[in-house]
Amino acid sequence: EGGGNMAGDPEGLCGAGAGGLSLLGLAPGAPSCPHGPALLFVKTSQGKAEGRRFYACSACRDRKDCNFFQWEDEKVSETRHAAREEYNRNHQPFFTHRQNVERYKNFVLLPLSKRRFCQECQQLLLPAEWQKHSNHQFLCDISTAQLKSPSQLLYPLENKKTNAQYLFADRSCQFLLDLITDLGFRRVLSVGTPRLHEIIQSKASQEEDFRVRSLLLDIDFRYSQFYAEDEFCHYNMFNHYFFGGEAARETCRKFLYQDNGERVIMVTDPPFGGLVEALASSFKKLMAMWKETEKGHNNQEMPMFWIFPYFFESRILECFPSFSMMDYQVDYDNHALYKHGKTGRRQSPVRIFTNLTPSMIVLPVEEGYRFCAICQRYVSSGNQHCEICNSCTSKDGRRWKHCVLCKKCVKPSWFHCNNCNCCALQNHACEKTDAGCFVCGKAGHKRSTCPSLSST
Ligand code: SAH
Ligand code: ZN
Ligand code: ZN
Ligand code: ZN
Ligand code: ZN
Repeated sequence: EGGGNMAGDPEGLCGAGAGGLSLLGLAPGAPSCPHGPALLFVKTSQGKAEGRRFYACSACRDRKDCNFFQWEDEKVSETRHAAREEYNRNHQPFFTHRQNVERYKNFVLLPLSKRRFCQECQQLLLPAEWQKHSNHQFLCDISTAQLKSPSQLLYPLENKKTNAQYLFADRSCQFLLDLITDLGFRRVLSVGTPRLHEIIQSKASQEEDFRVRSLLLDIDFRYSQFYAEDEFCHYNMFNHYFFGGEAARETCRKFLYQDNGERVIMVTDPPFGGLVEALASSFKKLMAMWKETEKGHNNQEMPMFWIFPYFFESRILECFPSFSMMDYQVDYDNHALYKHGKTGRRQSPVRIFTNLTPSMIVLPVEEGYRFCAICQRYVSSGNQHCEICNSCTSKDGRRWKHCVLCKKCVKPSWFHCNNCNCCALQNHACEKTDAGCFVCGKAGHKRSTCPSLSST
């Protein structure tokens, strides 16, 4: 099943560009893989006006995880279709969410000495199952505290292309939660943010006056072992697919309905692939779900934090013109590169994009953020207000410099290159005169302006 691997490098997905893969999106009647409806892509080759279209798995960009592939115009026979449906059924998790909830209830009744977690299967074990896992590594004496922090118990799925599970550092997770509560939100739709979900849930169970609730939507089904059906939905954010069908969709809809004016915010931290447009289309559907729950929302948008690297800014703003990027650097526990600049560590490129008014997003002064009265938002300490651009222009936290020729601020390490007519790294290879002059072979000019031509 699958019919071979996808040609080309899925990592190179981009909106445009000659000779590459582009996402066309969710198409009506698209075939399904175990991860729900496949996405339609087009493979363009240089010089050809139209590329060939094909379907591929929406969730797994590593073909080793799901090799679903079908040309758009491919005929799929009845037998192959039936085989595919069976394959999809067989590739669903062994236990259902409901079964996992039952298992959990039994698990917490066990004395500590009988509470085991199989590290190989990433599964809570009931005593009757020990035998089957006797050759596996397991953890003993699983405490209630451990059950309340599944993100610490489960190993992060670090497979770069498919799951890329990067967990928030405590500093960032706490900052997000404080921000959310200070802004007065009482419900958090946590889309791919298991660690945020878990600190909200555990605080809610421990502190009586803490009224925030969270619903986790994530593709990582391991979490269904720890949360009830109104706390977790198995969900694919690249195609807005609820694995649990209409019942799960209804759970989400109910959660978004704001009784007693309890305000909802969606927080999402998706894997950083190239599928910004697919994510945006799912998030718009979640926003529409929110909007449908109440007639009063009129022209409002569901408040949202989309956590993503700053270099995706233009593509996110294209999808969501009402969003802006905050300077706050989001840190991760298990990602050496994405840690905060303070205390000598590396700077994180990950930011918060939001449709809330920027001035309301108060960033911690003790970490060097300050308020720019002109921009009406908090900025990094190194982010200087540029008089010419009339904004605080740095994206990466370093102080940027204004280039009069480019008419904008650029990275501090860049210089204006007269060949390229833009700013670039000093030792960059000039784009246009790369191969040198056609006549004399020297770099720095083209054949039409070659000095050896004018002297003869
Ligand atoms: N920083 C977050 C985790 C972000 S990692 C935190 O600490 O809570 C990205 C998350 O998105 C993971 O939980 C991963 O399981 C989930 N994810 C990856 N692909 C997904 C998909 N297609 N649909 C839904 N969730 C997905
Ligand atoms: Zn096992
Ligand atoms: Zn400013
Ligand atoms: Zn400037
Ligand atoms: Zn310049």
